[in-house]
Amino acid sequence: MNNTAKAVKKIVIVGGGTAGWMTAAALGHVFRGSDVRIDLIESEDIGTVGVGEATIPEILKFNAMLGIHEADFLRATKATFKLGIEFIGWTKDGERYFHPFGVYGTDMEGISFHHFWLKARAQGHDIALSDFCLAWQAGVKGRFAHPAGPPNAPLGTLSYAYHFDAVLYARFLRQYAEAHGVHRHQGKVTEVKQNGNNGNIRAVRIEDGREFAGDLFVDCTGFYGLLIEKTLQAGYDDWSHWLPCNSAVAVPSERDPAAPGLRPYTTATTRTAGWQWNIPLQHRTGNGYVYCNAYISDDEAAGTLLSNLDGKPLADVRQLRFTTGKRKQVWKNNCIAIGLSSGFLEPLESTSIHLIQSAITKLINLFPASADGTVSRGVFNRLIDQEFSTIRNFLILHYNVTERTGMPFWDHVRTMDVPDFLTDKRALFEHSGRIYREENEIFTEPSWLAVFTGQGVMPRQYHPIANVLGAEENLDRLQAIKSAIMQTANAMPDHGEYVARMIAAK
Ligand SMILES: Cc1cc2nc3c(=O)[nH]c(=O)nc-3n(C[C@H](O)[C@H](O)[C@H](O)COP(=O)(O)OP(=O)(O)OC[C@H]3O[C@@H](n4cnc5c(N)ncnc54)[C@H](O)[C@@H]3O)c2cc1C
Repeated sequence: MNNTAKAVKKIVIVGGGTAGWMTAAALGHVFRGSDVRIDLIESEDIGTVGVGEATIPEILKFNAMLGIHEADFLRATKATFKLGIEFIGWTKDGERYFHPFGVYGTDMEGISFHHFWLKARAQGHDIALSDFCLAWQAGVKGRFAHPAGPPNAPLGTLSYAYHFDAVLYARFLRQYAEAHGVHRHQGKVTEVKQNGNNGNIRAVRIEDGREFAGDLFVDCTGFYGLLIEKTLQAGYDDWSHWLPCNSAVAVPSERDPAAPGLRPYTTATTRTAGWQWNIPLQHRTGNGYVYCNAYISDDEAAGTLLSNLDGKPLADVRQLRFTTGKRKQVWKNNCIAIGLSSGFLEPLESTSIHLIQSAITKLINLFPASADGTVSRGVFNRLIDQEFSTIRNFLILHYNVTERTGMPFWDHVRTMDVPDFLTDKRALFEHSGRIYREENEIFTEPSWLAVFTGQGVMPRQYHPIANVLGAEENLDRLQAIKSAIMQTANAMPDHGEYVARMIAAK
């Protein structure tokens, strides 16, 4: 063993948004009590993006790794529970479907549940797939409970994530990180110093003249990409030809006082040149219109957003601009980009915070044994490439499989060329209802099934093994599964009351 190479002893994180503080909290936690020093520099003058309020279930693992208690987290971030996303108008106006966390029904005879549902439909029974989805049956009634019981019982299959206030989450993690030894510095980085011989970053300098030297730098400067792009010129793969939305307007609003309870899911509603999110938090609702500015003006988009709020706006509308894509090298030299500095996939499936978490996990697992980091870098970049691309493909599906016509934005996305991966995935599903998980995709079979069937893509045949059950037995089993799901959903507590009880408990 050769342990003579210089070990990483100083980590410098530039940026204190969600990415910066998630990274600082995680590294502070894993290096607690060691001789690794972690500095974080953030600039109040520059500020953060401050949106990013919906997550996917992986976030539970991140909080668990840090040892954060759920009730503390709910209190600190004004969080609510999220069971999935309701997509409104994606096939055509007036139609809606739900992309749940968790599963549909119960797999039987070694194959996925949906083949038995397809068999019943093939025999003329018009049964809704959502009848077999606990997340939706609970969600639509405004109910929530933690998963419990055996994994084959309906409540055991439930999966959930959170809606939370991103600014409060960063503040919460800042307290955590500082308590775990991370040193915070306030100031704008005005100079990045590189080694002449290899181009590695040696130090960053802030406006008051202080310098922070490091072995490893984490660029969490958001869309600025101060280290990874402005300094190291890692390059950017622009994916706007597949995901043309490049703008958003966002505004928080009062919760609708007439609304019957606290909704445990996000909604994503199509608009003329994109879609609008609605995210219920404890104290307010997060809203935004994601759009392509080639098809609608910023003023029009802001007007549409403001005329589609459930309650009074609580702030001025914020304008954001982005280019969908990712850095060609997310880890270059001794710098790793995490968060918006590494790339951006629009928030349709709430994946950006997951991508932060995933990059942090990979960084910890591949943490370089020596400061040059050469071996870890290649693997890290390959894995991040795969993750971004597979999520990108899933997002493209939503736009491409639509019957919305007569609107230039939707005509474009409906008729554009899509990646081969997506063409093949759709062909396999249309042929015989199969969905195969490839390249460690984060969105697995139930997710693809939800969007395909929700947007009208139906298979021509089902799996032949579904014929193991006779027609009547198949229907009996479907009926039994549906009843168990409905009973479970009806027995679950009201979501708003559940959250209130959790945050009140000491
Ligand atoms: C419209 C929109 C909606 C979104 N919705 C979701 C969602 O629902 N779910 C989800 O998971 N994600 C969502 N995201 C993404 C999410 O907001 C980001 O992933 C997350 O906030 C992380 O941002 P960040 O920390 O990388 O960057 P930022 O929040 O921009 O933070 C950048 C930090 O870098 C600092 N900085 C920059 N330059 C300097 C400098 N020169 N010197 C010192 N400090 C500097 C700033 O002070 C700031 O602290 C959304 C994003 C957008 C644009």
